[in-house]
Amino acid sequence: MYSEVFNLLDFIRKSPSPWHTAVTAGASLEDTAFSELDWRGQWSLEPGKSYFTKVYGSALFAFSIGEGSLIGKNSLRLAAAHTDFPGFRIKPTAGIIKDDYGLLNIEGYGGAILYSWLDRPLSVAGKVVIQGKDALNPDVRLIDFARPLITIPSLAIHMNKKVNDGIALNKQRDMLPLAAVFDGVADKNFWDEIIAAEAGISTDELLSYELNIYPYEGGCQMGIAGELISSPRLDNMTSVVACVEAIKQSHGNGLNVIALFDNEEVGSRTKQGAASANLMQLLERIYECLGYNKTQLWQGINGGFMLSVDVAHGMHPNHPDKSDPTNKVLLNGGVVIKQSASQSYASDAEGVAIVKSLCREAGIAFQQYVNRADMPGGATLGSIASTQVPIRTIDVGVPILGMHSAREVMGASDQNALFELIRTLFNYTAV
Ligand SMILES: [Zn+2]
Repeated sequence: MYSEVFNLLDFIRKSPSPWHTAVTAGASLEDTAFSELDWRGQWSLEPGKSYFTKVYGSALFAFSIGEGSLIGKNSLRLAAAHTDFPGFRIKPTAGIIKDDYGLLNIEGYGGAILYSWLDRPLSVAGKVVIQGKDALNPDVRLIDFARPLITIPSLAIHMNKKVNDGIALNKQRDMLPLAAVFDGVADKNFWDEIIAAEAGISTDELLSYELNIYPYEGGCQMGIAGELISSPRLDNMTSVVACVEAIKQSHGNGLNVIALFDNEEVGSRTKQGAASANLMQLLERIYECLGYNKTQLWQGINGGFMLSVDVAHGMHPNHPDKSDPTNKVLLNGGVVIKQSASQSYASDAEGVAIVKSLCREAGIAFQQYVNRADMPGGATLGSIASTQVPIRTIDVGVPILGMHSAREVMGASDQNALFELIRTLFNYTAV
């Protein structure tokens, strides 16, 4: 169990933004003989080989082509996850001077639990864009300060006696991070200067950026017997790592694909999100490159299967009443199969049966999640992706506590169960 935990926490540390996540995943695949393809280029593919391609920098597809036909039933298998996480993005012209304090102007990204971001050492990572060889081809540089840089201080209890009754936090008023205390010489361009210095460019060269804030402190194994993991970004790095590790061990027939989309936390409706046509485009290009026609591609999709992989809610020990009364999900209880009649989770009875059978045959622990009937619960990319590629899809993931907090908690043994499920699907030989 130790090596899986180390691998997960190491991957999370190297992935402080969606763009870094794509780079970390790509580097890990390249180490295992996956060849990188240019998303905008011409491809030539060979059976028996494995490839990956990055899409707009923050999404990544990887696939492994087996020797057998790609049109038989069960010949197309996919696992999808997301590279982004809820928190904050830094606005352009972000420097704010208040007296001698240097603050940053930010906006929210996705549904973060705001109070969990207070009073922590935070850092900043993302992409900086500068003039390239011409106006239509700018250059991108990834930066990661990788040091405690900013913090969002809470208001002392003496100035808000009701703080423990619950606080309403306003993102524009309460959540601006403190970056500096100047000694009488404050310049509101201080932030652009810091970014330019980190990227090794001048402020004149800096055209734009997308930078997210992340908790500086890394994850750790914990609990009396080391049975828990506390870390930022378990949503959804647990799924990204399981997908990447499983495709690296794919040696089945047919076509195995992982799709790591960006922007799930803001609804997936972007060019690098699960609502885009890119997964369909990927499959079309692979089948066409290998000499199949369009009807044969649809045969592959119609007989295929996809796991949409994202975290699930574990039962909270202090709030068991928030969970469904007959389907209780526990940390270290195994992979969670998520169902919702509203189809906010992609599911049908056959798909649930497929996942249960895979788990039973491989000896993988599993449990089932449904929302309480009076709580709408969350949603993820499975339903969205399966409207673009109409393939049988089931939502699965590891259970966590504190979803969308700056730090979340999971059971240390669940990561391996998730990895084993995806690996088992990718290497499955149907009778
Ligand atoms: Zn998620």
